[in-house]
Amino acid sequence: MLTYNEAIKILLQKISPLTAVEAPLSETLGCVLAEPVASRWDLPPADNSAMDGYAFAFAGQMEGDTLPVTGFIPAGSSFEGKLTVGQAVKIMTGAPLPSACDTVVPIEDVVESGGKIRLTRTPTAEQHVRHRGEEVGKGEKLLDTGTVIHSGEMGLLAAAGAERVRVFPKPRVALLSTGDELVELGTAPGPGQIVNSNFYMLSARLREEGCTVIPLGIAPDNERELSQRIAEGLKADMLITTGGVSVGDRDYVQDTLRTHGFEIGFWRVAIKPGKPVLFGTAQGTPVLGLPGNPAASAATFELFVRPALRRMTGHSDTLPSRLRVTLATAVSSDDKRQSFLWGALREEAGEYIFMPSERQGSGQTRSIQGSMALLPVPPASDGYPAGSEVEVLLLRLPPGASGPA
Ligand code: AMP
Ligand code: MG
Repeated sequence: MLTYNEAIKILLQKISPLTAVEAPLSETLGCVLAEPVASRWDLPPADNSAMDGYAFAFAGQMEGDTLPVTGFIPAGSSFEGKLTVGQAVKIMTGAPLPSACDTVVPIEDVVESGGKIRLTRTPTAEQHVRHRGEEVGKGEKLLDTGTVIHSGEMGLLAAAGAERVRVFPKPRVALLSTGDELVELGTAPGPGQIVNSNFYMLSARLREEGCTVIPLGIAPDNERELSQRIAEGLKADMLITTGGVSVGDRDYVQDTLRTHGFEIGFWRVAIKPGKPVLFGTAQGTPVLGLPGNPAASAATFELFVRPALRRMTGHSDTLPSRLRVTLATAVSSDDKRQSFLWGALREEAGEYIFMPSERQGSGQTRSIQGSMALLPVPPASDGYPAGSEVEVLLLRLPPGASGPA
């Protein structure tokens, strides 16, 4: 059976970034730039004041000197008058500096009366002036291919006039739950039935990645119905199924996929939970068949689906982030498979403590609740004693954490 490292290598080899699209800037939050962006103009566009204050030409003025004030320049307007050396003009933050001026004193550093200011502090030449093009010049590269558009990049791109940008789009992901035992939330489960909770858990994870979820509902365990839904799902950028990929009598997902031209990447990986996970492509669409057990579904999402999505969206770092932590309680190893243990994190004296969840059963919906990280434990080892320094795969930090975000 493949190891996780072998399997993820296959997956990342078979998946490539989606075709880049040009989109309005406002729709690109969280997207990765598919080409460099140059500024349409100088930033700032003109020399301007960094403070609310008074502008003048520096000529060695000192504390105690007075200057007559000959005009006022609010932000958004410019000074049309004439200014001679020794005169000042009142200026607001961001207003363009008159060409005759090179220095600004803030309001806090003067006393104004009778149309004059008296300096209460000796200024230095060119203080509090933002120079034209000091952030970026017109036509100069502002951001490179591969940059993720977070809020800061969004503001910068807008300031530089990038109305539309070329990005890797967020995937449309079809989500199909399989199993005769499933009912939708809203229908009280009858004997032998359970709610299709994987749909909620997985679509939440997909939305975290900015994906559009295409819900395909529940397919019963029969090949004809499965086949119809799979055909629908293969129109998306990725198809995720849950359930029906193990070795049970009614596990039809793989056989049905084959009738749609499925090329297998791998089936079954030596991990716990999540061993039955299935990956391949059909008609050019990546397909991930996740096990039905909730904790196995969630773990295989983190271990395979999220990296696949990051690859499709052009991220260079596709694998989960790692964090060094101290283990709160001892953990044991599985004889054959690499374990991934769910757990919460807490920060204590500048260190992260990982507290493995008491429930690790793949069938337990509660194993995942509250978990912030997964701890990989090598197979056939001694596990780790309490207090060990280990590396976890980070899903999210605890509230108020001061560590890496
Ligand atoms: P399977 O992988 O189809 O053998 O399913 C294994 C077990 O996972 C089932 O017996 C259910 O208890 C559970 N399961 C399957 N699909 C879902 C789902 N969509 N939501 C919640 N639990 C599920
Ligand atoms: Mg099933």
